[in-house]
Parts: sequence; C-alpha cells; structure tokens
Amino acid sequence: MARIGFVGLGNMGLPMAQNLLKAGHQVEGVDVNPASIEKLTAAGGVGVETAKSAAARADVVITMLPSGKEVREVYLGSSGIIANANPGTLLIDCSTIDVETARAVAAEAEKKGLLMLDAPVSGGVGGATAATLTFMVGGSGQAFVRAESLLQKMGKTIVHAGGAGNGQAAKICNNMILGVSMIAVSEAFVLAEKLGLDHQKLFDISSKSSGQCWSLTTYCPVPGPVPTSPANRDYQAGFTAAMMLKDLKLSQEAAKATGTKTELGADAARIYSQYVASGEASRDFSGIIRFIRD
Ligand code: NAD
Repeated sequence: MARIGFVGLGNMGLPMAQNLLKAGHQVEGVDVNPASIEKLTAAGGVGVETAKSAAARADVVITMLPSGKEVREVYLGSSGIIANANPGTLLIDCSTIDVETARAVAAEAEKKGLLMLDAPVSGGVGGATAATLTFMVGGSGQAFVRAESLLQKMGKTIVHAGGAGNGQAAKICNNMILGVSMIAVSEAFVLAEKLGLDHQKLFDISSKSSGQCWSLTTYCPVPGPVPTSPANRDYQAGFTAAMMLKDLKLSQEAAKATGTKTELGADAARIYSQYVASGEASRDFSGIIRFIRD
C-alpha cells in the first residue's frame, strides 16, 4: 500500500482521496481550508500542515488544485513538493491547468530525477465519488505504468495521451468541443421553440440523427427528455459555468500560443464569459440555454 500525499481536498480532491483510503492506501491530506482536512480525517486520513511535509514522507504525491497559479506555488520553490520529495517519488497533478505550466513543472521535476504526470479528469464530482473518472495522462511511459493501478482506484478510463502536458492538451480540446456543442444544442432548442417544435420531438429526432452528441443525449439543456440532466433541477451545478469558462479560456490561450484558428472556441468563450458576468457563475453550464433564450 502506498503512502500518498494529497494536496487540494475540494469538491473533486476529497472524494478522490476517500477512494484511495477505501482501497487501503494511507492518505496524508493538505488543504488551506481546515474544514476539508476534517472531512478527510473523518474518512480515515491524516491531516498535514504543508505540502512540503506531505511530500517529504510520500511515495506518491497527488494534487487537485484550482489553477496553474496554485500548481506552481505548491510544486516550485524551496518549500515546494519538488524540492522536498525523496528520489523515486511519483508526482501526479490532476488539476485542469494550462499546458505551459504543466510542461514547466514537469521539466523541474525531471531535473530533480522525479517522475511526474499531468492527469486531468473528466466526470465531475459524481465521477470522483463513484471512482468512474476518465484520466487523460501526459508524461513518460515509465511514470504512466507506475501510476496506472493507483488511478484505477479513482477512475474507470485511464488514457496515456503522450508526453508531458498532453493530458492537459486533451482536456482543453475535449472541453472546447463540449462548450461549443452545448451552445449549439441550446440554440437549436430555442429555435425549435420559436418554430413551434416540441422539445421532446426535437430530442427524439436529433438524438437518432446527425445532430446527436453528448450535450444532447446525456446532458440535455431542456427539462424532460433526459431526467438526470441539470435542466430538471433548475440547472443546479454538476459542472459550473465558471469552470466551463475557465477551460474555454485555457483553450484560447493554447490556440493563441500555437497560432491556431479556433473561431467557434473563441465565440464559446465570449458567450460563457457574458453568461458568467450575468451572475450565473455557479449555475450549471447547461443553463446557458436560458441566457441564449433571453
Ligand atoms: P475546489 O475549489 O473545490 O477545490 C480546490 C481545493 O484546493 C480547495 O479545497 C482549496 O482550499 C484547495 N487549495 C487551493 N490552494 C491551495 C494551496 N495552495 N494548498 C493547498 N490547498 C489549496 O475545486 P474542484 O472542483 O475540486 O476542482 C479542482 C480541479 O479539478 C480544478 O482544476 C478543476 O478545473 C478540475 N475539475 C473540476 C471538475 C468539477 O466538476 N468540479 C471536473 C473536472 C475537473
């Protein structure tokens, strides 16, 4: 059983850490919020003051932090994870961050002879709780082989996407598809309303036709056709509009850095930015249909 340092016990990190405890691993958790530490200790984990001390004792360090800024803070510098981890420690960052930071931090880890992976996830809090997350993993084959059985305790689909940063690249490309497709499906439902076409009829036809996609068939933005979608509970989040905007902004930073034209991605970032500014940051991202309708 591994001794795991887990930094960032928020909505995603806490249930992921709890699944590692259930699998019999030792988990030493770090979070700036004491309430998160209490929840981990209630589940059988141990609270640790700093990432530095967790890293010094761990076989594996996992981080699940809001953005690239926190990832740099926690990994780099004299009190960071990289400076204080023992040789042979495996580092896995599961946060969704920019590709550039993921590659820069992995390069620092490599300089110190540490194995590091970027392993962002898809599947939300539900997937984190049920241990059914999809992990998109960037880093060396050697690091991937070492991490795989551990990631399987927190997820169902584990894909090695290539070298350092490629996990983040996969995540932001996927979420750019998602942001664009949710807007497209929402626009289609709003147009159907104006044309006098019933929601269920459009769903029945498009879910079996060429308009079929995840935003329609699994996460339908109107109440009714898919009873489990957030539209049936006043768009209470699953995946917030603020998070979608964050990921779309990451895709646009990457597009700019690589000179790639992603016009629909840029439009989606602009539309989600307006939706968030309208006071709906914590609403589910599929609530964008109300913004489009209004
Ligand atoms: P969250 O804000 O709930 O959790 C982040 C945690 O990190 C918080 O508990 C916070 O106190 C802690 N933290 C912040 N700075 C810290 C520091 N310097 N040291 C220690 N702890 C620190 O966010 P979340 O929803 O758990 O998301 C985490 C990451 O997962 C994000 O990058 C997000 O984009 C990604 N993600 C989230 C979802 C989702 O549905 N929530 C889905 C897929 C991916």
